[in-house]
Amino acid sequence: MSAPRTVTIRTRDHGPVTLPEPAWCLGEHEHGGYRADILHQGPDVVLAFHGRHITDAGLVESPFSESTRPELGGRTTGVSVSVIGRTLDPVGLYELAAALDGYTDRLRDLADQLSALLAGGGQ
Ligand SMILES: [Zn+2]
Repeated sequence: MSAPRTVTIRTRDHGPVTLPEPAWCLGEHEHGGYRADILHQGPDVVLAFHGRHITDAGLVESPFSESTRPELGGRTTGVSVSVIGRTLDPVGLYELAAALDGYTDRLRDLADQLSALLAGGGQ
């Protein structure tokens, strides 16, 4: 078994800070900021359409965060969703996925309605 991965990040308020590096983290950290702003980030899951970026989501964790509001990022790992500007826990992420499922159904209904309208089948 290999030793846990660590990373050392230079901070302006605590000097070099060495901490465990989660396996999912891309390892792209900014140096020279405050320790509380250290952020682990996983790869983005991107929603794009015809080359246009709509939103992305990915794992995040701020191990020294002073925020007590998990939706704004915190010490607990969450998923940051750019389109809503929030970090979600598993329950919130399932709720968002359900809302998106419902939205795709409504888009298909609109496509059906539009097809019928363009075919002269009604209003
Ligand atoms: Zn990291």
